[in-house]
Amino acid sequence: MTSGEPAGADETRLYEIWGEIADLEAATELLEWDQETFMPAAGQEGRGKLLGTVAALIHRRLTSPELADVLARCAERARPGSLLAAQVARARHAVGRAVRVPESLSRAIAEAASAGVVAWKRAREAADFELFAPALRRLLDLRRQQAAAIGDGGPPYDAMLDGYEPGATEAQLTPLFDQLRRTLTPRVRAVVESGKTIDESPACGHFPAAAQEAFVRRVAAGIGFRFEAGRLDPATHPFCVGLNPGDVRLTWRLVEDDFRPALFGVLHEAGHGLYEQGLPAASSRTPIGAIASLGLHESQSRLWENHVGRSLGFWRWVLPTFRDHFPAAPRFTAAELWPALHTVKPSLIRVDADETTYNLHVVVRFELERALFAGELEVGDLPAAWDDLYQELLGIRPENVADGVLQDIHWSQGMFGYFPTYTLGTVIAAQLIAAAERQLGHLEELLAAGEASQLLGWLRRHVHRHGSRFEAAELVVRATGKPLAADDLLRYLDETIERAYGA
Ligand code: ZN
Repeated sequence: MTSGEPAGADETRLYEIWGEIADLEAATELLEWDQETFMPAAGQEGRGKLLGTVAALIHRRLTSPELADVLARCAERARPGSLLAAQVARARHAVGRAVRVPESLSRAIAEAASAGVVAWKRAREAADFELFAPALRRLLDLRRQQAAAIGDGGPPYDAMLDGYEPGATEAQLTPLFDQLRRTLTPRVRAVVESGKTIDESPACGHFPAAAQEAFVRRVAAGIGFRFEAGRLDPATHPFCVGLNPGDVRLTWRLVEDDFRPALFGVLHEAGHGLYEQGLPAASSRTPIGAIASLGLHESQSRLWENHVGRSLGFWRWVLPTFRDHFPAAPRFTAAELWPALHTVKPSLIRVDADETTYNLHVVVRFELERALFAGELEVGDLPAAWDDLYQELLGIRPENVADGVLQDIHWSQGMFGYFPTYTLGTVIAAQLIAAAERQLGHLEELLAAGEASQLLGWLRRHVHRHGSRFEAAELVVRATGKPLAADDLLRYLDETIERAYGA
């Protein structure tokens, strides 16, 4: 291994077992990727069983007595702060979450999640929350049981967060989300009340599908995504899966009358993909060879999507390529387009939200999840609580539950504690960019000169190459010199709004 000292027999055995677990996890990723891209519709039921079998195999290996013994012996041998200590800590985190949950409960959660998705789809089509409420109650109940099994006596919501963002707690996140709510709500309201609008015509026109595909591929390659170690395929929802640093798959979708959804979707997923391609090859198939957390993963996508893709420097660089691909598109300069990439418009649907209001959509979900887990909110009162929060934070109210509480799939799959990672990622992205800029100089100039590789190199050194050796919070301190905080994000949004709206 990479620790520089000869690996003992226990260590070797640890990596053998973990190699199998990592391979099974990669197989799951590949099966899920295929399910969303090329699998025939009639394959759904069979694929569900296949995924269930692979999940059971992973669970069996994680909970094997041999792995527990090997880890205990490695822990004795590991010097504090060493690579081996990090390997043991990461492995124990995963093992702990698996071992403490009885197999019957795991199976009940998986079944309730698949029933939840079916109920959610029906409820969303009928715009009738009551069709989903029983499934949601069941999922919450099971997740509370799981939290009680895993947790160390803290709030049950912490055990949910820890599944996506190891080490994160409700107590830590609450002040951060409160700050975003307090600062962004009046900022958005001021833009709306100013009555000022931005001319978005430069972004609209006719952008043929084939030209969009050629363009987004050029852009992804231009920021450093290696197509010899990756793919890009069409799918209903954009996403990224990484089987290993040599096989990273992105998906995308487009609309023909606006180039922004495809371009920013691909920049986002390529940001995820650059992280996956930059994970430490020497630690592949070991506990620390993986991503540090979902929030950190999202920081990489938001960084390329927002701080690079919406910057003037990036557009100075990409505009000639854009014109080559879309000769009939409206003629605009980078400066004329720029405001259209920074609109602030309260809207009902999270996935369509702009970079400012997006965080308020996440605040709504964080506050509601937390209240549900704390027993302060009953499932029956959820739709009204949702609508009231939208009114309070964004000044708009959904007309029906399909555009309100039923818009996201996450809760129907039993995924509670996932939403906060979206905003954590946005916060981390702004902090990383500020730190990179302090070291590399003005990024606008670098990007305008087509030097995105310098930024990628910085991210490789400070983030990607560590895999999950450090927890996300520690990695942020190491990379930026300070603990996670929303200041850089709020400053960025403030300056952007001021420049775009002149207010
Ligand atoms: Zn993402």
